Amino acid sequence: MAGYENVIVGGGLSGGMVAQEYREAAGQGSVLIVAGEPHPPYHRPPLTKEYLRREKGLDDVYMHPAEWWAGQDVDLRLNTEVTDIDAAGHSIGISSPRARTNAWRFSPLPSEPT
Ligand SMILES: Cc1cc2nc3c(=O)[nH]c(=O)nc-3n(C[C@H](O)[C@H](O)[C@H](O)COP(=O)(O)OP(=O)(O)OC[C@H]3O[C@@H](n4cnc5c(N)ncnc54)[C@H](O)[C@@H]3O)c2cc1C
Repeated sequence: MAGYENVIVGGGLSGGMVAQEYREAAGQGSVLIVAGEPHPPYHRPPLTKEYLRREKGLDDVYMHPAEWWAGQDVDLRLNTEVTDIDAAGHSIGISSPRARTNAWRFSPLPSEPT
């Protein structure tokens, strides 16, 4: 599996905006967002306001529909944690599947110790 030129850790609004702004600035490199949560980037403020009052649904709270990210060629890995960052080696470890990714390759790690 290919590596990524841009890896964004965290799929909150900040992470989502970095990817969006990069594409809007004509950035054409590959982009990976590693998101610990099961949802694509969403706005938190409505959670305690309009969403809680049922004035907005979940779709209104998302920054973009899930398919928008694929349309922007952004690889959004939900339910996945970054487990470590090797800044010097330009690579990160991710939790699911347990693997490493860097600018050149994305290779599985040995399975979890038993
Ligand atoms: C209920 C609620 C209501 C709010 N209301 C307001 C408001 O009215 N006005 C206002 O100005 N602000 C409000 N805020 C604050 C605002 O939402 C935050 O400032 C904003 O969410 C920050 O966005 P962020 O992307 O920087 O961080 P976060 O939203 O915290 O996102 C970080 C993301 O990174 C993920 N992450 C962290 N570590 C890892 C890892 N190792 N691997 C993979 N993923 C990881 C987390 O799971 C999370 O999804 C509210 C927040 C909440 C929770």
